[in-house]
Parts: sequence; C-alpha cells; structure tokens
Amino acid sequence: MLLEIENMSLLYGRIQALHGISLTVDEGEIVALIGANGAGKTTTMRAISGIRPIASGSIRFGGEDISKLRPDLRVRRGLCQAPEGRGVFPGMSVLENLEMGAFTRRDSAGVAADLDRVFQLFPRLLERRKQPGGTLSGGEQQMLAVGRALMSRPRLLLLDEPSMGLAPMLIQQIFAIIKEINEQGMTVLVVEQNAHQALSLAHRAYVLETGRIVKSGIGSELLHDEAVKEAYLGVA
Ligand code: ATP
Repeated sequence: MLLEIENMSLLYGRIQALHGISLTVDEGEIVALIGANGAGKTTTMRAISGIRPIASGSIRFGGEDISKLRPDLRVRRGLCQAPEGRGVFPGMSVLENLEMGAFTRRDSAGVAADLDRVFQLFPRLLERRKQPGGTLSGGEQQMLAVGRALMSRPRLLLLDEPSMGLAPMLIQQIFAIIKEINEQGMTVLVVEQNAHQALSLAHRAYVLETGRIVKSGIGSELLHDEAVKEAYLGVA
C-alpha cells in the first residue's frame, strides 16, 4: 500500500472532527472520498498533508510512519496537495507558478518534459503562460493549481474538490484530465462533493459521514448502491 491510514482521529480544540478513520490507497489507484458538507473531507486531507496534527492513529506513506512528520518533509517524500480554493501565487505568471511546483526537483530535463505535459493537458495555460496567476478566471486557476501539483511529480496526488466552482463543461474536462494523469501512472486521492463524477472516476471510494467512514467499495458499485444514491446522488 502506498498510503495506509489507521484509526485516525483529529480534534479542532474540543470538537472532534474525525473519529477513527481507516483508509488505504494502493499504487496506481484513483481513490475518492465523498461526503456531505462538514463530513470531514478537507480535514482528512489536512491530516494527510500534515497541516493539522492528528490526535491518535497513524498515517503510513510508502511504508514509513509519517504521522508526526512536518508538512514540507511529507512533500519531499512525494505527497502533494492541490488545495481547495486554488491557492495560486497571484503575482507570479502562469509559467512561474508551474516552475514553483518543481522547486524541489534537480532533474531539469524531467522538469522541462513535465512542463510540456502540463501544457498539453491544459492548452489554456500555455496560451496564458505570461499572465499573472491572480488574473486568471476561477476555472483557469483551478487548472493551474492541478498543473502546479503535477510539476512536483508526486508519488501521490491529493486533490481537494477539483471541480469546485467550475462550469459543467470544465468539470467534465478536469475529471477527464485526472483520468488521463492516472492512466499515465499517477496515484490519486480525490475529495469531492460531486459524488456522481467522483464515483464514476474512482477505482474505489470511501463515504464519510460526520467524521466516520460509513461505507467503502468499488466506485462503480457505490454508484449503484441504494443508500449512496439516496444520500449523495439525489435519486431515491
Ligand atoms: P465541505 O464539503 O463543506 O468542504 P468537509 O467534508 O470538507 O466539508 P471539513 O471542512 O473537513 O468538512 O469540516 C469537518 C468539520 O470540522 C465541520 O464540522 C467543520 O465545521 C469543522 N472544522 C473545520 N475546520 C475547523 C477549524 N479550523 N476549527 C473548528 N472546526 C473546524
């Protein structure tokens, strides 16, 4: 297993946001985490990337216990998160933003090849490579955030709500790109409110409810699960 989370709990002060979550992501998989507003999806991502400390349980990555490791050291081990709400550097150009994604890498030929690949995936970013990140549209900033994460060539790509705020056509596009990236060998853990898209895309998925995993399984099976349909897919 690339990522193994066991019995993880997390507190915000006195509020317990996660109650003993266990989940795994295997090399080459797309795993989705779905759930309603406030279920704890973003909190789970924060725990994995190390932005918030966990109260108990463990996070193993590539066989190593990283539960207490600093966030930047997790990034160096190949964990990379494209944050919810974009988080691009507004004053830097598109190209500079993408180069920032690769700042820990020393293989300049590999970086150049990945830059080409990102521009192939997102032609819009190539057209706008000199434009300041802060002046891109919301959808373009979302693409830039995903592109920047790819530039770090992570072992595991963490995507928090990649479809947030995007028009329906762009949502289709971003999910198609995630699929393509995965087919090229990238392992992905994606948090999504858009349960239908997420379950169609993912090999496996977990359903989170008030800080607990209440169900897990093959993406396409959960898509046809009656309880999941009723609660998350808007059909009874
Ligand atoms: P959404 O889909 O709305 O983004 P989510 O599943 O990502 O929701 P989280 O953001 O993980 O949910 O929040 C889980 C719970 O923890 C919520 O009840 C939220 O109010 C609470 N919470 C999140 N961040 C904090 C914080 N910094 N301090 C206190 N409580 C918090």
